[in-house]
Amino acid sequence: MAYQFPCPVAKKCGGCQLTNLSYEEQLSFKQAKVIRLLGKFGRVSEILPSPSPFHYRNKVQAAFGTTRSGEIISGVYQSSTHNIVKVNSCLLENKTADAIIVTVRSLLRSFKLSAYNDKTGRGFLRHVLVKTAVGTGEVMVVLVTGTREFKSKNDFCRALLEKHPEITTIIQNVNNRFTSLVLGEEQTVLFGSGYITDELLGKKFMISPRSFYQINYGGTKLLYSKALEFADLHSGDRVIDVYAGVGTIGMLASGTAGEVLSVELNADAVADARRNAKLNGIQNMRFVCADATEFLLGMAAEHEKADVVIMDPPRAGSTVPFMKSVCTLAPERVVYVSCNPETLARDLHYFVQHGYKVKKIQPVDMFPHTQHVETVCLMSRVEGK
Ligand code: SAH
Repeated sequence: MAYQFPCPVAKKCGGCQLTNLSYEEQLSFKQAKVIRLLGKFGRVSEILPSPSPFHYRNKVQAAFGTTRSGEIISGVYQSSTHNIVKVNSCLLENKTADAIIVTVRSLLRSFKLSAYNDKTGRGFLRHVLVKTAVGTGEVMVVLVTGTREFKSKNDFCRALLEKHPEITTIIQNVNNRFTSLVLGEEQTVLFGSGYITDELLGKKFMISPRSFYQINYGGTKLLYSKALEFADLHSGDRVIDVYAGVGTIGMLASGTAGEVLSVELNADAVADARRNAKLNGIQNMRFVCADATEFLLGMAAEHEKADVVIMDPPRAGSTVPFMKSVCTLAPERVVYVSCNPETLARDLHYFVQHGYKVKKIQPVDMFPHTQHVETVCLMSRVEGK
């Protein structure tokens, strides 16, 4: 019998694309995709499965709305529309997060608070964002509201905490604009510190409502461990971690490397990275807020050197001037972490043409049931080029 994905709203939601395949079949499908795109560069190692194929999402977002009959619902937007599909529990999302969202929904009723209406711009609760630090168990709840006014907010928080004592911080974020962005600019901490701290591979990471942080804890451990294994760092090594986000990979590398330079375009992420370095007592890292290509071009022009470059660009991949600069810096090893094997194939082609050899290709399944596949690739410099 054909495999049946046990989710009643899979079609309407569209968040999972591989619902006709069992988890084993999904892994084979992703393996075949990576081999098709990257097999010409070398042997593709067997894909590492996600340690938890279900409920792996530690960042959960729910939109709130009201049905025609007046029922407040929460869930996800139907793909490419603004209709909310009611979801009480999702197979990808952290279970506690889903339970918290259901509790918030029932509390709205008891506190006589409304859901926001994104057509009229009226009403109270727009979204709930729940982030869980799986390594420490800390939980953040962000209530995104259409108005600043929050009637009986202390009692509301108390009731929520009573039901979910695992919550360590609650934040109100005001978003009163007509926008599809979830978070607004204005923020008030209602309970706790306003952030959560996770522990991953021996380092601590502070996560705020806006910080980027990988969403699959177990999968991220596998991914980063592979990246570090491929980087094969030694105490004198100069490492550049580019497209660094909040600096996670670089911070893990800083334990063995001589020095790490972390380059990232998003100023908020760089601020988080600096704070996280302090939290971990790291002294051999430098953080630069810059466009990767421009910064690397500058380094290449100044004849700087690097032993290892770790790069983790967004889906669009990297740029030719960036890769050209990397080749000028001539690191022994380049570790390329990619969330899109298509652009990775294009970029590997450039590196192979300009003095690098692909040594290892490791797919990792960070996003079970979706079409996405992450790949870590190790390249090394060909002598004499
Ligand atoms: N390595 C990190 C983040 C990877 S996501 C982690 O594992 O958590 C890719 C990052 O590249 C994002 O943080 C994005 O802000 C950054 N980025 C996108 N374009 C960039 C550019 N042109 N220059 C530098 N960083 C860029």
